[in-house]
Amino acid sequence: MHLVACSESPLEQEVDFLVLGIHSEEGVAGPMLEVDHELGGALRRLWENGDFSGKSMEAQLLALPGLMKARFLLLVGLGPKDERSDERVMKVAAMAAKKMGDQGGRKAAFYFGSGNVAAGICGAFIGGHGQDLCRTESSLHPLAELRWHGGSDEDCQQGRDLGESVNLTRRLVNLPPNHIYPESVAREMQQLADEVGLGIEIWDEDRLVEENCQALLAVARGSVRKPRLVILNYKGGAEDQAPVALVGKGVTFDSGGYSLKPSDGMKDMKCDMAGAATVIGAMRAIALRKPQVNVIGLVGLVENLVSGDAYKLGDVLKSRNGKTIEILNTDAEGRVVLADVLDVAVERGADRIVDLATLTGACLVALGMDVAGIMTNHADWCQSIQNAAAQTGEQVWELPMFPEFGEQVQSKVADIKNVGNGRWGGAITAAKFLEEFVRETPWVHIDIAGPAYLDSEKAWIDAGGSGAFVRTLVQLVENCASEAKA
Ligand SMILES: [Zn+2]
Repeated sequence: MHLVACSESPLEQEVDFLVLGIHSEEGVAGPMLEVDHELGGALRRLWENGDFSGKSMEAQLLALPGLMKARFLLLVGLGPKDERSDERVMKVAAMAAKKMGDQGGRKAAFYFGSGNVAAGICGAFIGGHGQDLCRTESSLHPLAELRWHGGSDEDCQQGRDLGESVNLTRRLVNLPPNHIYPESVAREMQQLADEVGLGIEIWDEDRLVEENCQALLAVARGSVRKPRLVILNYKGGAEDQAPVALVGKGVTFDSGGYSLKPSDGMKDMKCDMAGAATVIGAMRAIALRKPQVNVIGLVGLVENLVSGDAYKLGDVLKSRNGKTIEILNTDAEGRVVLADVLDVAVERGADRIVDLATLTGACLVALGMDVAGIMTNHADWCQSIQNAAAQTGEQVWELPMFPEFGEQVQSKVADIKNVGNGRWGGAITAAKFLEEFVRETPWVHIDIAGPAYLDSEKAWIDAGGSGAFVRTLVQLVENCASEAKA
């Protein structure tokens, strides 16, 4: 996409679409005034008739045959001015881009008032990309050219970096599981690391054996696709500064293993690597934005299938940190993979860890499709994540980590078992399992089973991978950098 900051009058824009973002209490004001004058008061009449009121996410498309240099006028509602936020501007711009994306090659100029420029541009990137990566004729197209009125070149770049990183996460989730498997994800990560200048270590099967990642290896055994553990390394801080670790679950396809899922529960299981994809997208944005802090991104990549060699119910695995795990459900595989990856993060000296995983259906039952559950062993670090999420408008809700939930994952034959007693509180018993592998390190687990993957489209984003929490992770890391400076 060709992206430019611009300052000219809307009347001068030779584009397909002039997109005017309007606050609900403002009436015909700002850039609308000039356009209204040119159109002989048409916008004022539209407003007075109540056909457009500027309420959030409202949209009104007007054709301008020969009336102005632009071919169409797209009026979009930003809602009340005192509710204006990065999130609001991002979503409204995304909705506009999605509406204009029904054809390719289009040019648009956005007039959204002052502020929130990077967020708006990020949204325009998100709205124009969809899940139809394998269709011969795409049904959703990115803009060919985007002009943003009143922004700086730096704002534009920032918005592009973030929007393209969110879209990278979405693309990795949306690609089908015959394209996306541990080795292919590792290849994508190698390419990314070369492009943006991140350090990278790819652990293949031999290295995983050497490193004692027996839990991760056991989950991978059912597939002919070999597992990988990949570590991305960003150095923005002092050499001796402990890194923040971002850890992602990367089950590139989850059949459930011998605890086989029914077809209905399996059909979207390409999304079970969304945690890893989120970490990858965030690491890309971090490498481009260059905050002054050290960050490592670790992803455990496996495919969970069935075969004569697959792990079984009743198996006891010895995890990397030495704890033994009794397997009582092979569909609770994400936590088994993460057990080893979290141990690597601890060993690498991380002083704060956040992990992201499409971990439990129970989290969906508790919080619905749009809210991520967060669970922690450290109130302050959890607050940092809640603050970053609030800044980006992504929704998180803390679930309690009472010790009684931990009793449920105690095993009679091993140190720990990979499921609780029955289904109740399943999001939390999963977190209690993970907590066993972070030692004393401040840690937050984000269960993104709901928001990572959309069953149906929204006005501002296509269905499929949502890229949720890339923006929160980037914000979190930037906040860590400014705290370190202060
Ligand atoms: Zn599973």
